[in-house]
Amino acid sequence: MNLLNRRHALIAASYGSTALVCAALAHVLQWPAALTALLCALIGMLPPALRLARERTEAAQRQDQTQAFVQRLLDVIPEPVYIKSEEGRYVFVNEAFAHRRNQPASFIIGRTAAELAPDTDTVKLVSDEDQRVLAGDTVYKEDRIRNPLTGEIQYRIVTKGSCLNAEGRRVIIGANFDITSMRAAEKQLQIALTQQTEVAEHTRTFIQHILDVIPYPMYIRDAQSRYLIINEAFVRDRGFTREQILGNSPFDLSPETPQARRSIEEDKAVLAGYPLHKEEGGQHPASGELYFQRVIKGRCSDTEGRPVIVGVNIDITELRNSELQLTAALDLQREHHQQTLDFVQRVLDLLPYPVYVKDAQSRYLMVNDAMARDHFMRRDQLLNHVGLAESATPELMRMHFEEDGEVLAGQRILREDNSLHQHTGRETFRIISKGTCTNAFGEPVIVGAIVDLTDLRLAERELKSAFEREVQLRERTQEFIQRLIDVIPDPVYVKKAGGFYVMVNNAFAEYHQMSKEALINAKSPLLLTSAKTRAISVQEDNAVLAGIEVFKEEHTSRKATGEEVFRIVCKRPSVYFDGMPVVIGIDHHITQWRVAERELQRLAQEDTLTGLSNRRHFHMEAASAMARAKRYGEALSLLMLDIDHFKHVNDTWGHQTGDEVLVETVQRIKDSLRGTDIPARWGGEEFIVLLPHTAMREAQLVAERLRRHLAELPILTSTSKVPVTISIGAAQWQRDEPLDHLVSRADAALYHAKEEGRNRVVIAGE
Ligand code: GH3
Ligand code: MG
Ligand code: MG
Repeated sequence: MNLLNRRHALIAASYGSTALVCAALAHVLQWPAALTALLCALIGMLPPALRLARERTEAAQRQDQTQAFVQRLLDVIPEPVYIKSEEGRYVFVNEAFAHRRNQPASFIIGRTAAELAPDTDTVKLVSDEDQRVLAGDTVYKEDRIRNPLTGEIQYRIVTKGSCLNAEGRRVIIGANFDITSMRAAEKQLQIALTQQTEVAEHTRTFIQHILDVIPYPMYIRDAQSRYLIINEAFVRDRGFTREQILGNSPFDLSPETPQARRSIEEDKAVLAGYPLHKEEGGQHPASGELYFQRVIKGRCSDTEGRPVIVGVNIDITELRNSELQLTAALDLQREHHQQTLDFVQRVLDLLPYPVYVKDAQSRYLMVNDAMARDHFMRRDQLLNHVGLAESATPELMRMHFEEDGEVLAGQRILREDNSLHQHTGRETFRIISKGTCTNAFGEPVIVGAIVDLTDLRLAERELKSAFEREVQLRERTQEFIQRLIDVIPDPVYVKKAGGFYVMVNNAFAEYHQMSKEALINAKSPLLLTSAKTRAISVQEDNAVLAGIEVFKEEHTSRKATGEEVFRIVCKRPSVYFDGMPVVIGIDHHITQWRVAERELQRLAQEDTLTGLSNRRHFHMEAASAMARAKRYGEALSLLMLDIDHFKHVNDTWGHQTGDEVLVETVQRIKDSLRGTDIPARWGGEEFIVLLPHTAMREAQLVAERLRRHLAELPILTSTSKVPVTISIGAAQWQRDEPLDHLVSRADAALYHAKEEGRNRVVIAGE
């Protein structure tokens, strides 16, 4: 702007100082253009006004007014303006002049420059100039002065001219235009410009460096496709020197090549606003090698605002080559993948049950032979199809897809399906296993396997019914066994470990006076009397379970009734229906037999009428007594007794009374004997008594006591009083003497007692 104004000021100066002043004012005051124009017009009117004043000198009354107007006008001008006379005296100065001189206008008026500033050089110069101006020249110069007040260097434009004043005298009109600030600004601008130029140069170099670092060719062309900037990569690529390229278009470099023509056509399109982005390849114009490059062209404006084309050629030959290699590798991978798939297919085909892989849309991606067979379809008919039978119901299809959806959501399906085969209609049992995983491409797939269990399940069903039959048979067998053992009159039971009854028969229940139901699973020892018996029973059961057998006779009495019980207890280890070890027991009750036997024994040993031992039993008792006497060297004696004239009793009172007399006689004999003595009925009314620990002397006393005990009182029978006497033969046992011999000696003594008159005791001789 300042430069512009300066230029205007210079132009103005060539037309006259007034216009110059005006323009300078405009510059200094920064007036708006309109005001400047007005002022210039006014100033432009100044010379005609002066001419009018000269022509109309007589119009003196107006002169003062004009002078005053001029004074006011010039006072408005901020730069020093003066008018000097031919002698060089100041006749008029404006306020700016007075201010610059720092002297009042009244002091300046009438004085010469020499008087005001006695500087000879300047004065001489001013005087010379004044003479030149008065001769008709004009002065327009720029000088450099030191401000007399501030001492600062000032630049100013000094203009001088002459004209005739209102009185017809030639005067000098001068104006000094201070351009110090303008010069200073100009200097700064100069410096700034130099700096800018340097920066621009540096920037350009820097950009060039940057571009040179870029490894692929890059260029900037002007609108005529001439290279403005290129980087090193571009130079290398083109095979021309940088100097050959710069300033030339591709067409200049390689005329008539299709590439060059195309490049220039592209430039036009780019300039028209269509950026280019393409890939091209072929024989490289410089190297002749096969190349691929990505060409990018765009438009922008340079520092001057001119459109330029920025182009980049990125070499992608390597990329393309590696792409080719990758494609080959990919093909190999695909082949490998296919081989793997084929292998997997072969493996799957070996599996005897259907296996498949489905995609997320439930379409079969892979099925094995078994699957195809199961569906009665060829493999290729199933692949890429949903594969449901045409007869599939909407519910079945919905269930199918819902399940696949659940599987894809991560649920593992393992269920057994019992349905009619969709192709054969046969009842099938199948385990359906489904899961999800991702395939080689990372896509989710459903992997399923169907294991046919039909044969297994049917066999199972068969087995189950067989088992049920078996159970029924077992139950019937059990019932049969129950009935069987119920028939057994003795208590029979089956016990398991711990003493619990698992089976009992009626006799057992009856014996324990409990129901069978109450007994089953009851603990046997609870039924038994004492804790001791219970412990023994458990011990015994355990022993039986361990393998031993028990066979014993028990003689007990029933707690409730006190009735004596004989039984043969038989226990054997066995195994129950369910394989459980058990004890089978039978309590064979033999009480009646044992009682009868005991009676028989008693009958065999005793005399029925008197209850004394019979002769056979006496022999046994006598033998043991004799053995003991022999062992211990004890004495032993024997008495033989016979009722006197018993025939007469029978004859007199009857046989019945005879029997009663016999019984009473025996009672009296028993009463007279000791507990250790052994009496027996020897024959009809004959008795024998063995006296252990008894020698003859004492035996005689015993015999006498017996005799007396019978003889003292008659026997009272139910009908009569019968006097009874007995005769007794006594013998002492001699060591090693047999019983027969002892008996016959006592018998002989009895015979003597009868002979000698009866009712007496006779001692046997040696
Ligand atoms: P003696 O003084 O010589 O012994 O004379 P006696 O009459 O006792 O003679 P003897 O010994 O020969 O007779 C025994 C009789 O006892 C014969 C028989 O009829 C009788 N007698 C034997 N056994 C029984 C019996 O069990 N009951 C009865 N009432 N009489 C019996
Ligand atoms: Mg007799
Ligand atoms: Mg007799």
